Amino acid sequence: MATTERPRLRFRALRKSFLKAAPAQDSKNSVVSVCVEKQDDNASSSSKAGVLSTDVSTSIVLPKEQFAVLTPVVGPTLNLQITKIAVAPPKPGEVVVRIAWTGLCGSDPSFCVGPQPGFSGHNHIAGHEGIGHIVAGHDPALLNKPVAARYLTYSCQTCEYCLRGLPESCPRQLAFPKNLNGTFQHYITVPRHSVIQLPEYVFARDSTIHPSAYAAALCSGSAALKALRAAQPRTGAIIVVSGITGSIGHLVGLMAKHIYAAKVIGVDVKLKAEDPIVEKGDVCDRFIPVPECAEQEESFQQSIVKLCEDLRGQNNILVGADSAIICANRVIGFRNLTSYICDGGSIIIVG
Ligand SMILES: [Zn+2]
Ligand SMILES: [Zn+2]
Repeated sequence: MATTERPRLRFRALRKSFLKAAPAQDSKNSVVSVCVEKQDDNASSSSKAGVLSTDVSTSIVLPKEQFAVLTPVVGPTLNLQITKIAVAPPKPGEVVVRIAWTGLCGSDPSFCVGPQPGFSGHNHIAGHEGIGHIVAGHDPALLNKPVAARYLTYSCQTCEYCLRGLPESCPRQLAFPKNLNGTFQHYITVPRHSVIQLPEYVFARDSTIHPSAYAAALCSGSAALKALRAAQPRTGAIIVVSGITGSIGHLVGLMAKHIYAAKVIGVDVKLKAEDPIVEKGDVCDRFIPVPECAEQEESFQQSIVKLCEDLRGQNNILVGADSAIICANRVIGFRNLTSYICDGGSIIIVG
């Protein structure tokens, strides 16, 4: 669902609050720490039960406690509390990931109310755009590997939904933060297969791309890419993106322009015309404010058709845009879509 904030700002805000809450030993350098479970046969019963060893020479021990953004009892209103909770040691097949960055998705607040079917009603921890490093586990080869925790961690690949390319609807799915507690905590202890490995360059010190930017790829970024793949734009195609300044919409615009070489007409509320990403032309070639009332709808549709004509140039016979990708969360964004899409075009609704 599109929102009026952009992820980059939210990452910073969230990171700031996490740093403030972090234990003293929680420095950034500990990302590369090795933490292993004691393996000797004389280990105490508590070690055998999975308690992390404190006397392994190569290890830096995980803290026993951490801070998390937690909803103690999920109810009808949002109730988030920064709370100290235990860091769970990994069982066989599990890893501990130290979260370096997490995005705040528009869905996270809604996951914290309800509870919704399948979600925990108690001690819920949201967050599904987390990236970090494996800092503990039973396989030394995995230590320090950069990984990501995203919403969908497992789908069966055999049900009707999976076979239709809709793993998000798989009834056998496992997901953050539905079946596993989410990334609004410093350390997540999760099955190894629930996190995906990232390329090393994500955390490269000399990279010009900040690591936090990759967190957006896990949810809003993948939604944007999936919408574009459904639209299958050709080079020079014209795509109308409704909700262009939202968290998904602006990524649709960026990818459409810079990856698909498409032309983008951005639609959003009038005051968003002054958004820097719109003014600089980063996300769209043209901007049209969404109609504020029913009387403005006809001129809005005509304006889009006229803009398409201008953007296509001479010798064009197509009328209207090739595709509309709707990332808006207001009803007005869904009205009369077929009136400005050319024959054979497509309408993609995200959400
Ligand atoms: Zn999300
Ligand atoms: Zn399935």
